[in-house]
Amino acid sequence: MRNLVILGSTGSIGTQTLDVVRQDPNIHITGLAVYRSIDLLREQVSLYHPEYVCIYDEKKAEEFRHYQLPVKVLSGMDGLIELASMEQCDEVVVAVVGMIGIRPTIAALKAHKKVALANKETLVCAGHIIMPLAKECGIEIKPIDSEHSAIWQSLQGEPHARIEKILLTASGGPFRGKKRADLTGKTKEDALKHPNWSMGRKITIDSATMVNKGLEVLEAAWLFHVPVDQIQVVVQPQSIVHSAVQYVDGSVKAQLGLPDMRIPIEYALYAPDRRALPDDERLDLAKLGSLTFENPDLETFKGLALGYRAGRTGGSMPTVFNAANEEAVALFLDDRIDFLEIADVIEEAMNAHENHVISMPTLQEILDTEAWARSFVREHSTIVH
Ligand code: MG
Repeated sequence: MRNLVILGSTGSIGTQTLDVVRQDPNIHITGLAVYRSIDLLREQVSLYHPEYVCIYDEKKAEEFRHYQLPVKVLSGMDGLIELASMEQCDEVVVAVVGMIGIRPTIAALKAHKKVALANKETLVCAGHIIMPLAKECGIEIKPIDSEHSAIWQSLQGEPHARIEKILLTASGGPFRGKKRADLTGKTKEDALKHPNWSMGRKITIDSATMVNKGLEVLEAAWLFHVPVDQIQVVVQPQSIVHSAVQYVDGSVKAQLGLPDMRIPIEYALYAPDRRALPDDERLDLAKLGSLTFENPDLETFKGLALGYRAGRTGGSMPTVFNAANEEAVALFLDDRIDFLEIADVIEEAMNAHENHVISMPTLQEILDTEAWARSFVREHSTIVH
């Protein structure tokens, strides 16, 4: 029996993870953690019978305790850490959004739990802490992102020294082919229309700005031990080729499939084995007809260029890139700044941080840098409404 804890169980990845493990009698759900979605958590508790839940928001945790369900209720960051490192759990799926994923991931590694990681911030901001720790504890971090899963799958059985470059694919998002001038005045309704993937709101905006791809470049660099300049982003509008690896003999290995997050989730849980997913939908190459590829437009989608810049600078700069973006996206979703201003304020924050970069920030320095970047964006964005 494998005892699983899912941090972020009511989000897009969390619900799909539960969907994947539902059919497996060998997986027991020990704990579920949510930010504040207690209604869905309540349903999940009655369906999966975990022994523990954690609700990050203390007020919601209190509310949940009043339900008097047969489950132990933890709360806050302490609860997340306790859940991620408890003896009764063997594996942790980290699917929370934002920097709150860092400390539970560290706790899980220190307690020698297997870790499947869907949270980008953990590696983007704290890769220099997480990766050596994982190595020291002898734990391989299993990526859940579709691109990183594809790279991981394409690396199976290959010597690391023979990697020439990683080809990280991008859909290009809803504004692919547009120029900067076309994007003036774009609203959140336009930006939230992703052509291929159905995801959370924040990541969908990140896909439209291509900041998401910048974060993925940073994440891939840590996961696969390559410098950011050995990672090439290729736009693949159909989202069928999920990423690839090019080797020194010119050979390219890729992973293909329909855009379905259950595949990377399944692979993270069962690799190197695979488990059957319902065959109602399969990739039909002949029906698809063609796959197309193009270079990203780094001038229009500055978010990606800024990601590379953050990766080359390293240290605390990726934290500024990520935190400034989170704050800017929140302002955009609140109709308070323009679409193009998202990348503009990230760039301003990075410029302001340039002379204050900490090369190996501690966890506290990462959190301080995050707070600084957020307040910088709030002060320096021209609020339009
Ligand atoms: Mg992705």
